[in-house]
Amino acid sequence: MQTSFTLAQLADPDIAEANTILRKCVHCGFCTATCPTYTLLGDERDSPRGRIYLIKQMLEAGEAATEETVRHVDRCLSCLSCMTTCPSSVHYMHLVDHARAHIEQTYQRPLGDRLLRGLLAWLLPHPGRFRWALRGAMLARPFAGLLPAKLRGMLRMAPKRLPQAAAWDGEERSRPLVFPAEGERRKRVALLTGCAQRVLDPAINDATIRLLNRLGCEVVVAQGSGCCGALEHHMGQEAAAHAKARANVAAWIAEADGAGLDAIVVNASGCGTNVKDYGFMLRNDAAWAERAARVAALAKDVSEVLLDLEIRPSGSAPALRLAYHSACSLQHGQKITQAPKQLLQRAGFQVSDVPEGHLCCGSAGTYNLLQPELATQLRDRKAANIRSVGADAVAAGNIGCLVQINDGLEAQQQPLLPVAHTVQWLDWATGGPKPPGVA
Ligand code: SF4
Ligand code: SF4
Repeated sequence: MQTSFTLAQLADPDIAEANTILRKCVHCGFCTATCPTYTLLGDERDSPRGRIYLIKQMLEAGEAATEETVRHVDRCLSCLSCMTTCPSSVHYMHLVDHARAHIEQTYQRPLGDRLLRGLLAWLLPHPGRFRWALRGAMLARPFAGLLPAKLRGMLRMAPKRLPQAAAWDGEERSRPLVFPAEGERRKRVALLTGCAQRVLDPAINDATIRLLNRLGCEVVVAQGSGCCGALEHHMGQEAAAHAKARANVAAWIAEADGAGLDAIVVNASGCGTNVKDYGFMLRNDAAWAERAARVAALAKDVSEVLLDLEIRPSGSAPALRLAYHSACSLQHGQKITQAPKQLLQRAGFQVSDVPEGHLCCGSAGTYNLLQPELATQLRDRKAANIRSVGADAVAAGNIGCLVQINDGLEAQQQPLLPVAHTVQWLDWATGGPKPPGVA
């Protein structure tokens, strides 16, 4: 694709990067076939190629984003299905991230939108605040009909019962938390404990720690590590996202240079994709670039770390048939497609792929709260596809997908299927407790 940035514009490293990405696109349109929003809406401006044109126009003009561009960029899930399909290796993720930051800096959203986005950015990355908000949402549920549609959607997503926080999971820590390996230590890894996942389903971190310990890994929760910043990053709030990235980089480098780290384990794939991109995110920050690149290289999805370890079924779980939902951030963002399925099979489960597996479930960070109509269509399509394989239960590696799929299965008004994280199934099969909802 030809571009026409001025030399002055190209002096900005972010514009220079966008220019390189844009020039790789050859307009072939292959990406449109696998884009969820184009599949639903059939509008070229809601396809990757259409969005790339809109972003090019916006950046070349160097002016405030228009309402049209914002509408179509906002509808993008950042599912990155287009990056898997693109034969020219167009780095759509970096382009749309830059577009979102430009929109955030130049476009004045309607007041309701600004308030909602501000509220989400204030709540979700902070487990204490989020926990209190969910308690409020549970009390407000009976009055949901009185609220605007977007707030109604938020209430619906709130769990009916708020799980107890893990006993070890305090807000502030004065030293790292260490969970020793069982038997001989094979690896020492840091765990990203995250933000929303810790509140919505603390059992996932517990299962991850138990499983890694059982397989010979010492797990450390580094002092000062926390939310990865992905939620703010996807809303274009770069300063806040970069501040969280720097805090995590400082925390993990202190561990790596101290007692040593073989990996930084991430068990929410949306966060994993973000942490693996820290090197790019902070590349222009001389004080942090080298350390951020080290952290990005150490970051691994939990399935990548487990693949090197010996998972042996203990006989505690039956050979259930699991429908494996491949989270977009895992399959498209991190190109991890086989490891979770291989691990589940090694643990004794039968694993079925879900039809239309390349299509997003509609969760996509805060997408199901900001774009509820499209997200609900994708959710229902995903739930129907999952149901079609006739599995006993569902496995996935990302908290957003787990909540969204559970919501979709509930909406079908058929008997519920247990939905749990891949590590919870592996933990059960190797001697841990049953995942929730399993009879
Ligand atoms: S990231 Fe997903 S929704 Fe966005 S353009 Fe690419 S395929 Fe479409
Ligand atoms: S598939 Fe790649 S090269 Fe082709 S239009 Fe889409 S982004 Fe451009």
